[in-house]
Amino acid sequence: MTSDLPDFSQGVAFVEGRYVPAREAKLSILDWGFTRSDVTYDVAHVRDGGFFRLDDHLDRFERSLAACRLSPPHDRGAIAGILDRCVGLSGLRDAYVAMVCTRGRPRVFGSRRPADCDNLFTAYAIPWIDVIPPDVQARGAHLYVASVPRVAPASIDPTVKNYHWGDLTRGLFEAHDAGADTAVLLDSEGFVTEGPGFNVFIVRNGEVLTPDRGALEGITRRSVLDLCALTGVPARIAPLRHEDLLQADEMFCTTTAGGVMPVARVDSHIMSNDAPGPVSLRLKQLYWQKHAEGWHRTEVNYAAAGTMPAV
Ligand code: PLP
Repeated sequence: MTSDLPDFSQGVAFVEGRYVPAREAKLSILDWGFTRSDVTYDVAHVRDGGFFRLDDHLDRFERSLAACRLSPPHDRGAIAGILDRCVGLSGLRDAYVAMVCTRGRPRVFGSRRPADCDNLFTAYAIPWIDVIPPDVQARGAHLYVASVPRVAPASIDPTVKNYHWGDLTRGLFEAHDAGADTAVLLDSEGFVTEGPGFNVFIVRNGEVLTPDRGALEGITRRSVLDLCALTGVPARIAPLRHEDLLQADEMFCTTTAGGVMPVARVDSHIMSNDAPGPVSLRLKQLYWQKHAEGWHRTEVNYAAAGTMPAV
């Protein structure tokens, strides 16, 4: 990186046509993304210098944009270029890479019509984050089944990535108050949905199961289902209830920011002698092995990083 560029080593953001150090990036307090959670986003990751399943993240982002009737001023190819440039400028080999589209501000002062807003696209690449810290993953996370139900899908579609985290945040406080690491939420009928930033899986009698409702269709979840198919492990998307968690042989969580994250306890149910179970560990190991083999990999163009592009 040339010395006339700012210090990008702690991350780079793309805001209003400029690349800036991530910690300096700012949005207007009048943007409806902030005042109304009127926003959608997606998060991909870079591992050892390559994006993982970038096309799948862009596909999901496009579906989310359409569902929210948001139109960023950049097409898919330009967005992929911006993400690549954020990572390239940062020099980060392992990164959390977000693309965000907010409703923006109304062109007509005081308008309450979403169609009057100029939608805003922002992006950033920051150093790798684990939703569940590595030492907790290593001993097996402790999950708490929250009393607060997940918001109804008919109101907030969980398959559209969103900032409506009120229920998940309440669940996290409950979990932490109970001494657990993180939470899992049920829907209002008692079916298991997901946790704050991750999908959940159980292993029962050698079969891998993940909830069929109330959850984001995670890219990591899809990767785990693909890995099960590749290695002949039976796996299914199915309705799961609280008692299924309490009778599970193993449990694990999945997310872009962490991969396959083993669980040792859910409420007072202790699994695999209070440690990550063998199926969970095998899937975790395979997930990273496949990364190293170049599975669904798109190289980051670090070579272009010395020049500040115009968008
Ligand atoms: N569920 C929620 C609520 C999330 O925010 C996330 C990711 O951030 C996930 C599930 C996991 O999805 P993915 O594997 O695509 O990261």
